[in-house]
Amino acid sequence: MNICVIGTGYVGLVSGVCFSDKGHYVTCVDIDKEKINNLKNEIIPIYEPGLKELLKKNKDEGRLQFTSNLSDGIAGAEVVLIAVGTPAREDGEADLQYIKAVARSIGENLTDYKVIVTKSTVPVGTGQMIKEIISNTAGHSHFDIASNPEFLREGSAIKDTFQMERAIFGVESERAERILKKLHEPFQTKIVVTNVETAEMTKYAANAFLATKISFINEVANLCEASGADVEKVAEGMGYDHRIGKAFLQAGIGYGGSCFPKDTQALLKIGEKAGYSLKIVPAVESVNKEQRLRLINKLRCAFGKEGLKGKRVAVLGLAFKPNTDDMRAAPSVDLIPLLEREGVEVICYDPVATSKAKEVIESLQSTSTLYGAVKDAEAILILTDWQEFKDMNLEQVKLELKRPIIIDGRNLFDPLKMRDIGFYYDSIGRSVVK
Ligand code: NAD
Repeated sequence: MNICVIGTGYVGLVSGVCFSDKGHYVTCVDIDKEKINNLKNEIIPIYEPGLKELLKKNKDEGRLQFTSNLSDGIAGAEVVLIAVGTPAREDGEADLQYIKAVARSIGENLTDYKVIVTKSTVPVGTGQMIKEIISNTAGHSHFDIASNPEFLREGSAIKDTFQMERAIFGVESERAERILKKLHEPFQTKIVVTNVETAEMTKYAANAFLATKISFINEVANLCEASGADVEKVAEGMGYDHRIGKAFLQAGIGYGGSCFPKDTQALLKIGEKAGYSLKIVPAVESVNKEQRLRLINKLRCAFGKEGLKGKRVAVLGLAFKPNTDDMRAAPSVDLIPLLEREGVEVICYDPVATSKAKEVIESLQSTSTLYGAVKDAEAILILTDWQEFKDMNLEQVKLELKRPIIIDGRNLFDPLKMRDIGFYYDSIGRSVVK
């Protein structure tokens, strides 16, 4: 099939590349000319494992092209996928300015029948808004709208697309349903067909539920700390129950990233507008906000009366999770300035996110190696569970440090092993070892 993907960010680019790899002919459109020129030269704007190679393969084989001209992009496409950003506005509501702009451009260039599919995460009712904008601009209604929310995760986005666990089709016609089924045929996935509004809601409900799981286990972790239990074992014991499941029961410093924080907020606004006030989601948010701050308290406890002022602390991990360079709503963005305000000298290391981090944390001091960051530091703060950190040589790290203190926001190590090596080790939901 000929398809057009509008927006070449984490979702649009990965989807475009993966659909082309399955044999579809894909044109990716972005308003950002520099991004498009780079993509034409196989320079990828994001870090996503395997993406560069797959992009090159499909481009070379003639199934994938890039343009900043939407009119060229949608000409000849049977399906148009909208994958532009829907960031949070200041009041938490989803900002639909990019969606509206795309809808207008599609309307201006719509000459033959197409299915216009929204992959972006959008509030309930946005599909109808898109339909109205397109038909008003085009002056006709020879098109169908559909909602096909995206569930890929950054860091494993290609695998998540190739092995998608389900596809949700929010449709208004059998024709659109047939076309979406044909588009997804190569993925052999479970398909849920519903109306547009239900598909839009499904995405928010899924993300809010995952965020709830994270905040829930973090609350349990905090209770474990207060009562001498071990959250890792609690989570293991809970996770074997198939009704609960193991995924998303890793206690830590809470969720960040471009989706959960903004989508939980947007869901609250959807509730407000619909006249229903959600009760669980605000609690999830409040636990999450506090969770990352607990790390600073742990650091304070480690230094006791000496206080934090003047201490040199190595922060390991800037991105909100491993295998990505996405810095949106990463805990590091809050924590590093807070530490600096307390007079801490912070030196950071992240395997891939440092340059993007510098765009959002002005004062950031960094090194290009893990061992460079820990050298002469008086404590380590672990914020991201990169494999490189799990694999670090703890004996060598101890030698490099001025003081053997590790505050681990991701529970990477066994506390008893850490005690044997001689660390002061505090993690989440487990006893401190000294
Ligand atoms: P992003 O910010 O990485 O990319 C958006 C792209 O859209 C940018 O390249 C931007 O230049 C382009 N764009 C903006 N306006 C445009 C226009 N008028 N015409 C053409 N291109 C335009 O966003 P993202 O992270 O890929 O997210 C996209 C959507 O998918 C959001 O709604 C998000 O909530 C949702 N989503 C994201 C993820 C994720 O992990 N990032 C996962 C699932 C769903």
